[in-house]
Amino acid sequence: MRILIRNAMIITMDSQRRVLKNTDLLLEDSTIAVIGKAIKEKADRIIDGTGRMILPGFICGHTHLYGIMLRGAPLDIKPTTDFLQILDRIWWKVDSAFVNEDAYASALASCYEFVKSGTTCFADTYSGPGSIEGVLDAIAKGVTQVGIRGILAFEATERNSKKEGERGLNENIRFLKKLQQNPNDLLHGMYSLHASFTISDELIQKTREQADQLPAPLTIHTSEGLIDVYHNIERYDKRTVERLFDLGVLGSDVVLAHCVHVNHDELELIRGSGAVVAHNPMSNMNNAVGVAPVKEMHELGIPVCLGNDGFIFDAIENIRTAYLIHKVHHLDTRVTTPQQIIEMATINGAQAYGLDEKIGSIEQGKQADIVILHPNPRVTPMLPNGLYGYIVYGCTAHDVEHVFVQGKQLVDNHQVISIQPEVVEKALTRVVPTLWEKLGIAL
Ligand SMILES: [Zn+2]
Repeated sequence: MRILIRNAMIITMDSQRRVLKNTDLLLEDSTIAVIGKAIKEKADRIIDGTGRMILPGFICGHTHLYGIMLRGAPLDIKPTTDFLQILDRIWWKVDSAFVNEDAYASALASCYEFVKSGTTCFADTYSGPGSIEGVLDAIAKGVTQVGIRGILAFEATERNSKKEGERGLNENIRFLKKLQQNPNDLLHGMYSLHASFTISDELIQKTREQADQLPAPLTIHTSEGLIDVYHNIERYDKRTVERLFDLGVLGSDVVLAHCVHVNHDELELIRGSGAVVAHNPMSNMNNAVGVAPVKEMHELGIPVCLGNDGFIFDAIENIRTAYLIHKVHHLDTRVTTPQQIIEMATINGAQAYGLDEKIGSIEQGKQADIVILHPNPRVTPMLPNGLYGYIVYGCTAHDVEHVFVQGKQLVDNHQVISIQPEVVEKALTRVVPTLWEKLGIAL
């Protein structure tokens, strides 16, 4: 199957960050075959790219697909005043009630929202003490039905028992081995640890050893709230990143989620280790935990990718927030540029999870994971050096016209075509009432 997109603006995100004007893009089966002017090759289908921008599909560097299950839930809880209370009164209560069927339904719904707004790949960590063994298969089933690319993990924690931590790690190993035996181009596995205040040194080290033996990325929530900092100083006389560094866990295969409360010395340790930070500004705002020092991370050359932490599944909303929050935080308009944020949402996410040979930019031979934005009406001219700003200042998910993953079209003319919305709704209506009832919500 050959699909030719004619005469578009192409934001390549290649190493030179080229933005190409009036250029054609030929997709052949799963890959990007040709990028050039007035391509002569024959195609099975031609898409008019006039007035459109083509970008690599957005990559969500940190998410929790199950986050969608609570949308609109009128939880009757004592108002929370700090981050630990948010976990204790909301998320730990919710994830304790999960069964594998909930994980599947939430994967369907979240992936549907992801692809509808241009996200083609995500890194998910699932949590649920009552649904550990086999849960990654349930999530993979939902991801596969929608057709996007997923990096999946169970979030190991010892918040209830040591055994629970071991079971979480084992589920990741099981899934990774399964993928090793039956490779799937769209599914990847990784190791995930919850956060330094719910896991022991032993579990951290054991996970590190596993990641060395059976290589896959390793992710951990890092100083999202002050609870991490206090916990580690009190118990270990170290700050969070210092403890992780001393345990030998940091490396270029590690993605540290959040890093809101990290000081300069910790940032130096991160930089030296080659670890990547997953920045989740909308979630950080919602949980009122603070603003991550992304300006300093950029100055030090620490790679930063963009996540949603399971909160808002619209990539462009997350992009816009990431662009704005640091400007107001520093009272300085120069702090972030539109290009930096688009990098965070594309190529940096691919690099974070070792997938940049395949995805994250539009280059010949790479996988055809692309999004086509069609601002309509086009209120101002599109110029190559103005396109990053065009997206950040003006685009919304409504402009997502077509989405391809591995050459397969998942969104056509603004509609998700890989799965019908009724299927998603049916899966959720089957499980959400039971889940909500368990949480004391009368329907
Ligand atoms: Zn998270």
